[in-house]
Amino acid sequence: MSTAANDRRPRIGVLALQGAVREHVAAIRDVGAEPVEVRLPRDLVDLDALVLPGGESTTMRKLIDEYGLREPILSLARTGTPLLGTCAGMILLADRIADGDEPYFALLDIEVRRNGYGRQLDSFEADLSAPALGEAPLHGVFIRAPLVTVVGSRAEVLAADPDGRPVAVRQGRVLATAFHPELTGDRRLHRLLVELIGERAGRPA
Ligand code: GLN
Repeated sequence: MSTAANDRRPRIGVLALQGAVREHVAAIRDVGAEPVEVRLPRDLVDLDALVLPGGESTTMRKLIDEYGLREPILSLARTGTPLLGTCAGMILLADRIADGDEPYFALLDIEVRRNGYGRQLDSFEADLSAPALGEAPLHGVFIRAPLVTVVGSRAEVLAADPDGRPVAVRQGRVLATAFHPELTGDRRLHRLLVELIGERAGRPA
């Protein structure tokens, strides 16, 4: 068939300082891309996309600063490299954080509240409606998830929880989910990331 077998597979980085790295690496393989674990600025060279995984956003901020990764990640974003932030990763991408923290990357026109689903609901699973990703509901695994309290006009909702609250959003080539898409077998979000790479390169990935 016509897809050139010798076309380079897209290289998708996973920030690997802390948190849910391994499952993203597996998901990236599943969608036919090459995973790259990112710990140092040099690991960001030649990446086609980057995943900011779940974990603990305060710890992650500190480590990103310590390893000198903040500026190079921002410059990837500025040049249009697709990003996917999940859970803590969504918090790092948000323009606004309710109750306190300063925003970190501020690349996504949303406000989030850390652990906003509350203590009783520390962790839960729910079927999410995700019309932008196809008819089948998306199964969401939420672990001390951020609550999206505001979606600004530059961002678009990709999926909502059973109460209609936004749980996946997109602004251009920046994607974020309050849940952990890497923990289920549904690869639609990782596939969308690969599609955004192709869109950027002006060809189907
Ligand atoms: N509650 C965490 C935070 O505020 C995020 C949890 C997660 O990524 N699973 O950083």
